[in-house]
Amino acid sequence: MGCRERSVKSELLRTVAVEGECAPDPRGTLPGRGAYVHPVPVCVDQAVRRKAFPRALRVPGPLDVKALRRYVEQAQGC
Ligand SMILES: [Zn+2]
Repeated sequence: MGCRERSVKSELLRTVAVEGECAPDPRGTLPGRGAYVHPVPVCVDQAVRRKAFPRALRVPGPLDVKALRRYVEQAQGC
């Protein structure tokens, strides 16, 4: 979604909109629409710049991605 690079779903991180926040959902257990990004900061940032999260998740306003960004920063290098 962020960089438009094609990937298999298992390489991507599912995110969902939860109370105005874009929440990481690595296990795919949260309900609702999911948006998929590579779990790397650059891909999250590109998606934010393109306003791709509200569009993909069908929410009207901007979404807080702080928790998501923190998650991918920590996930990197594992
Ligand atoms: Zn990407």
